[in-house]
Amino acid sequence: MILIDGKKTADEIKKEIAEDVKLIVASGKRPPHLAAVLVGHDGGSETYVAFKIKDCEEVGFRSSLVRFDDDVTEAELLAKVHELNSDPDLDGFIVQLPLPKHISEQKVIEAIDARKDVDGFHPENVGRLVLGMPAFLSATPFGIVELLKRYQIPTSGKNCVIVGRSNIVGRPLSILMSQKAVNATVTVAHSQTKDLAKVCAEADILIAALGSPEFIKADMVKEGAVVIDVGTTRVNAPETKSGWRLKGDVKFDEVASKCSYITPVPGGVGPMTRVSLLQNTLLAAKLKK
Ligand code: NAP
Repeated sequence: MILIDGKKTADEIKKEIAEDVKLIVASGKRPPHLAAVLVGHDGGSETYVAFKIKDCEEVGFRSSLVRFDDDVTEAELLAKVHELNSDPDLDGFIVQLPLPKHISEQKVIEAIDARKDVDGFHPENVGRLVLGMPAFLSATPFGIVELLKRYQIPTSGKNCVIVGRSNIVGRPLSILMSQKAVNATVTVAHSQTKDLAKVCAEADILIAALGSPEFIKADMVKEGAVVIDVGTTRVNAPETKSGWRLKGDVKFDEVASKCSYITPVPGGVGPMTRVSLLQNTLLAAKLKK
């Protein structure tokens, strides 16, 4: 069994990005610039945005944080999106989700200029992904495919089962995995799938993205399968300083010995998701200049 090290792979990619940034700056241009819009004070969102800003610093990007309180109106938020769309000193930006209930996430996503949509959530980018055209790819699917590539895991003709069909993970990932560059035969499973254990046990590559801690047990995994665990659920852990820790969707202790490759949680898909945002921002900067 090979433990896939997402942190190490992401660090390698960060070094490559930092080299690119040096070249951009040496040519007299400004470094790539990413902005994050954060609404409210949700603990998870605060942490994710802080990571994104730290990642930018590490590779030499400029970063900006735009903060709003929970009671910001939809109109105010949309006005900020339009302002960021037309800011020539900004290459890409993200609006951290979830947003408060009184704001339509879909409206906000659709208001973002697709050329600055480095989260890859805008319908234009999703459509381009479906058609196999160049696009900003949703960060988690992008990171997973990159991880498979960098570990030289064979995918062509392999039976890939993805559990989960969300717009940010399962669905875009299913499209990427079925494209000619990857060539997997893809099954998308969800809460209405019959005989899920049997479906999973037929996978050469099993990707768990359902958000249910330790849902995937050993009897759902084929001997020699590649298992990618996307799940990150906070569970109580009184023994830790924070009082919680992250649990994946795979029961790692019983599944790992059956796998050819497996990702841990944390340290697997998470770091790759973070680095994918940097890759998209670098691309946005290059396309602009
Ligand atoms: P989501 O929007 O809640 O979608 C979950 C999907 O899983 C849905 O399609 C749902 O089916 C399906 N599902 C739920 N319970 C199921 C069950 N018992 N059997 C079969 N299918 C089931 O979640 P998400 O945003 O995709 O995130 C999934 C997990 O990945 C979460 O733990 C999240 O925190 C994590 N995540 C991690 C990263 C990372 O970088 N590591 C990034 C993004 C998300 P229905 O469609 O039928 O409801």
